[in-house]
Amino acid sequence: MQKVAKTLTIGGDSGSDSALSQMAEREQKLKEEQQRKEEKEEAKRLQQMEKERKDSERKKEAEEEEKQLMEELANSKDADSREHLNLVFIGHVDAGKSTIGGQILYLSGQVDQRVIEKYEREAKDKNRDSWYMAYIMDTSEEERAKGKTVEVGKAHFATEKKRYTVLDAPGHKNYVPNMIAGAAQADVGVLVIAARKGEFETGFEKGGQTREHAQLAKTLGVTKLVVVVNKMDDPSVKWDKKRFDEVHTKLIPFLKICGYKEKDITFVPISGLKGTNVKDLVSKSECDWYGGKSFFDTLDDLEPMDRDPNAPFRMPVMDKYAEMGCMVMGKTESGACRVGQKLTLMPGRIDCKIEKLWQDEDECSICKCGENVRMKLSGVDEKDIHPGMVLCPPNKLVHVTQEIECQLAIVELLDHKSIFSTGYNAVIHIHSVTEEIEVKKLVSEMDPKTRKPKESKCKYLKAGSIGVVRITIAAPICVEKFSDVPQLGRFTLRDEGKTIAIGKVLRIKPKSEEIDNMAKTTGGAAV
Ligand code: GDP
Repeated sequence: MQKVAKTLTIGGDSGSDSALSQMAEREQKLKEEQQRKEEKEEAKRLQQMEKERKDSERKKEAEEEEKQLMEELANSKDADSREHLNLVFIGHVDAGKSTIGGQILYLSGQVDQRVIEKYEREAKDKNRDSWYMAYIMDTSEEERAKGKTVEVGKAHFATEKKRYTVLDAPGHKNYVPNMIAGAAQADVGVLVIAARKGEFETGFEKGGQTREHAQLAKTLGVTKLVVVVNKMDDPSVKWDKKRFDEVHTKLIPFLKICGYKEKDITFVPISGLKGTNVKDLVSKSECDWYGGKSFFDTLDDLEPMDRDPNAPFRMPVMDKYAEMGCMVMGKTESGACRVGQKLTLMPGRIDCKIEKLWQDEDECSICKCGENVRMKLSGVDEKDIHPGMVLCPPNKLVHVTQEIECQLAIVELLDHKSIFSTGYNAVIHIHSVTEEIEVKKLVSEMDPKTRKPKESKCKYLKAGSIGVVRITIAAPICVEKFSDVPQLGRFTLRDEGKTIAIGKVLRIKPKSEEIDNMAKTTGGAAV
């Protein structure tokens, strides 16, 4: 019995020993696990602290840079201080847009008489519609040869007060898409109306392009309009005040419906062909009733564009190339930049620095908003840059998203896809980005006249409708709300090469950081 008990005791003793050691082992394990957890948490905390420290350092540095930039901007002498405006010529075919364009280039000393004669001869030989277009084409071909692709042809001219870029919108066959591409970059619209008997009527009536263009330009964000009443020299007009007043009276109510404010519309009678009232004011002997300004003076005296000099810098990359470093080109759509400034390329969060800067063709140290610029960047490989990426300050990044809510105006739909509804696929063109999209939801349809939402549920949109629509984008892209930076918030939707809709960004669904990083590894959103 005793033996048994002993054995039991022994057995019991050895059992409790092993249980004890197991417990101790478990405890040890738990302790170690706890320690590991704590260590991990500590490391995470340190990492977070380091990230915050770096972020705050970046922010401080960027703020310091911003302050310096503002000071330099205020004192800068080398940048051309004349305001720069992008002009787009719109209006019915044959209204005289090309002729006026050529006349402008001639009167502002951009081309001499001999060149004009050459183009006139060539135009006649080739039976071409206009010699001005040929000139513009040549400029952009030359630009392309230098490796600078510019989607919309451009011509520059300057007066004593301002510098202008004329965006080449015309082109008779594909007029609407070209006009949209031009208007999307324009600051001021020049609506050309032919005063010649019957021509104003044709252009303005149903089927004429005057209405469509004026409407499209407004939807794209062009707020200022100079209405050029052209062909005043024509034998059917002879600078008749009655005809000018008739055009004015008929157009004003329509332009107001489009959304233009009367104070932002100026009417100027001219003869593009003869150059009358284009640069110099028309003489009293030719027209004794006109009390306004010449076309150039009208442009020069337009209120300066409402550009906030303190707005964060935004430059969508239009093109890039390697030339003793990484070169990018684009238009500064918001804010200013200077040599030495640190910037971030989005999406992808690639940090870089401006090494050199050119405004048009001239090297400069600082560049204001609204300029066509070229810059040399360091800290980034040219291969990692894609058109459509946006340069911005590291402390004020541009929005990156794959979903937006927007106001859409349906221009025209394809015959075999005549209903625009959920699931519709198209391509978005916004600043320099091109990307595939899908309609996720139709939020509401608006009454095109009152611009107020209709009561009934919106199932689809047709050509001519305006609606609020949510769309998803195939890859992350940089955008801004139209109300914040119009140039980065207005876009067109195209399908099978046709512009089917134009829109404004109303709301942006934020994208997580992972998406930014993902964009970096996949090479960014926009190609
Ligand atoms: P676009 O289609 O708007 O570019 O028009 P164009 O510039 O090609 O001009 C169409 C036609 O109108 C051409 O035959 C021009 O010579 C003519 N034209 C343009 N401006 C004037 C003008 O001020 N007076 C007259 N009489 N004819 C003009």
